[in-house]
This record gives sequence, structure tokens and C-alpha cells, in this order.
Amino acid sequence: MIPLIPSVEFDAALVRKLNQMGPRYTSYPTADRFSGDFGTEQYRTAVTRLDGLGERAPFSLYVHIPFCESLCYYCGCNKIITQDKTKSAEYLSYLSREMRLQAALLGERRKVDQLHFGGGTPTYLSDAQMDGLLGQLRAYFDFAPDEEGEFSIEVDPRTVTPQRIARLRRQGFNRISLGIQDFDPAVQKAVNRIQSYAQTMEVLKAARTSGFRSISVDLIYGLPLQSAESFGPTLDKVVAARPDRIAVYNYAHMPQLFKAQRLIKADELPDPEAKLAMLGLCIERLTAAGYVYIGMDHFALPEDDLARSQREGKLQRNFQGYSTHADAPMVALGVSAISAVGNSYSQNEKVLSAYYERLDAGQLPIARGITLNDDDVLRRTVIGRLMCDFDLAYKDLALPPGVAPEDYFAEDLARLAPLEEEGLLSRDGGGIKVKMRGRLMIRNICMAFDNYLNAPKQEGPQPARYSRTI
Ligand code: SF4
Repeated sequence: MIPLIPSVEFDAALVRKLNQMGPRYTSYPTADRFSGDFGTEQYRTAVTRLDGLGERAPFSLYVHIPFCESLCYYCGCNKIITQDKTKSAEYLSYLSREMRLQAALLGERRKVDQLHFGGGTPTYLSDAQMDGLLGQLRAYFDFAPDEEGEFSIEVDPRTVTPQRIARLRRQGFNRISLGIQDFDPAVQKAVNRIQSYAQTMEVLKAARTSGFRSISVDLIYGLPLQSAESFGPTLDKVVAARPDRIAVYNYAHMPQLFKAQRLIKADELPDPEAKLAMLGLCIERLTAAGYVYIGMDHFALPEDDLARSQREGKLQRNFQGYSTHADAPMVALGVSAISAVGNSYSQNEKVLSAYYERLDAGQLPIARGITLNDDDVLRRTVIGRLMCDFDLAYKDLALPPGVAPEDYFAEDLARLAPLEEEGLLSRDGGGIKVKMRGRLMIRNICMAFDNYLNAPKQEGPQPARYSRTI
């Protein structure tokens, strides 16, 4: 019998009532606040300021591989659909230039204890291309030993064999994330992602036998033709496979923002009540199977590093979701990739031709970003601790001398009052504690502290930038 650890409370009426559009807070300020006024010079300044951390302070590296062989209609990622493999060779030559420029700026060798390959589809690269890319990264950066570092890769099970998985492990990756979404063939057809259960299980088993330390799978609810009845068997199959982590994302249909989603038939989408039923089912099945709710779509086994980090108050949040190492500066390579260095965020050019042009000119391809002011830094800590720990201790905040937290955050705390009345959280002179009942609505709580979101609005209709909880 698995000892169940209470980690979240699902109240359909509460979710229905508080369901609203809001950021997912993979950063604060959120990426839509980045500005074109931020460029290479500002990034250089942020890197220079890191010197106070010591020349060998560990870094996180993110590498974006944008290519995919076919289009999944729900996709909101920055990707390029192509079967022309010469494109990846050209891209790798530009990645190499970017790596060289970054390494020169960072100092020749920097310790890296976290590496993440995302996309797109990182396994779009051939074995030989991956060998070459990793070899270059190792030449420029000093990677932590396997037992200390987290080296992860997103894998589309349709693109790999068990032999490829074993090779990825030998190439140095020790964590793997597999995209599943839904095993129902009708749903797979509706989103143009045909991926058999057998194929996925073969890849998952190969990851286990190859010695990956952590296996994560991604599911999505809210896709066309899904219902709680149809999604149940997918959840059962996933739970039976016992991955260490399960992410269950809410599909946000935003065809005005994501062109691929215009291929989804809107009349086949489940209504909000059906989505609510699916969310309830996910929470019920996964927690009954012994998974702990980490926050914002993520579940993990209690012995997994994510759950352990959360218990120890060390969990962090970054552009890849939750992480155990994300307090390290994040240097991101590749088209559209976002770095988080010191008090700055910076995003590379989003369009491939612009990314290439900048590198052809010998420049870092930074297109936009933001330098955080003192208030941003403070609020980043508040939102980060609430998202990761469900708990904020005022003593951990570097407030201006002589200013009490209740005074500094007077307006924010007033915005929290209705949520406190709903029983989502409790407050006292020491800080804020999110209750089990409030965990699912954590972004509503964080939104109270978002200075940009709460600034007076311009006249006229506001763009729909954010997804809803449901
Ligand atoms: S969902 Fe993943 S595999 Fe599908 S098109 Fe988007 S990035 Fe590519």
C-alpha cells in the first residue's frame, strides 16, 4: 500500500468561480514585458555583475533545437516543420558561433551543473550531430559529473528507437522527458500526432534500462474529442508505467496567437465543464497512485528530486517549469531561447533568418529582454516562493531598510483578501501560507503581486495573452 501524501485539494466549484486568464510565471516579470530596448550591451552588463558570484559559479544551459518533422495541431512552441535535414546542419553551425560568443563573454570555462535540450524536437538531430554538438559544449563549458548534474532532454517517442535512447544516455543525458499527450487514437488523429501505446512504452522501458535517473512524461487535457471517460484509460496506462514525473498540461486554445491551432476543429473541443472533470480525474488518479502535486500541472513521485527539493524548500521555477537547480544563471542558446542571468532576462531572435543575420554580423542574437529593478527582484522572490513552496516567509525578503512587508505590499495584500476569505491561504505577521485548497489556484494568488498586471490598463480591448486555469 502506497502511503498517500496530501498535496492538493480539488474543489470544482472553487475552480469554476476563480477560473481566469493569467500568466504561468515561468519568469517574473513575464516574457510579454520584455522590451526591444534591451540588447547585447544590457546582457553584457548583467554577465559582468555575475563576477561577484565567483568565476566558477555553476550555470544552467538551455539549448533550443527548433525543428520537427510534422506539426501537432495543438502546438504553441517556437518550431520549424521540415523534413529537410540539411536545415539542422546549417542551424548547428550557427549554434556553434553563438556558443563561442557566449563562452568568450562568460570566461572560457564555466561549470555547468544543469543542461536542458528542448524544442521543437531535439532528437531531430542525428546521433552524429548530437555527438558533435555535445562535444562542442564540453569544449567550451565544464560539465559537472553525471552523479551531480542534471542533464535532460525532451524526446518525441515517434522519432527514436531503444538504441537511440541508450545512445542518448551514453552521450551524457541522465533525465528524459517523453511527450505522450493522450493514447486515444481518435484524439491523436484530431491533433495530427499518431503515436502508439506500444511505441511509447518501448521508449520508456529503454530509458529505464539505459539508466536514466528520472523519466518524465507530458500529457495534455482539453484536446479535441477528449472527455473524462476517454482520458481515464490514458491516465491508467501512464500510472502503470510509473514514470518519476508526470506533467498534465491544460490545452489553451488560442488560435489568434498560435497558427497551428487554427487546424483544430473548435466544435470538437471539450467544454469548460468537461475540462474541469478531466482536471479532477487527473488529480484523483495521480494522487491515489502516490504522486505528489508539485504545482502548476506537475506531479512527481515522493522520492523524486522535484518532490524532495520542494520538501526542503529548494525548488525553483524557470522557463522549463520546475527545477532543482534553477537559482543558477541560465544561459540559453538557439533561436527564440530565453536566458536568465543575474537581474536580467533576455530572449534571442525568434525568426531563424534574423537569428542567423545577427550571428553573421558577429553579434549575440539577443532581440529583447528586461533588466529587473529592485521591486521586480523582490516580487520575483515572492512569486517564486509561492509557486514552489506554497509558502512565503517575509524574513526571506530583502525589503528596503525600515519598511514593513505589510506596508510595502499593502495593495497586494488587499487584493489577496478575497482569496483568503475563500480559504485559499492564511496570513500572519510572518508571511503567507497557501492551503491545500489554494494550491490549484496558485496563479490567482501570485497575480495579486504582479505589478505589471495590476498597473492601470490602457483604454480599449486588452489582448488575450494568457491562458485560463481551465
Ligand atoms: S508539439 Fe512538439 S513535436 Fe509537436 S510540433 Fe510542437 S514542438 Fe513539434
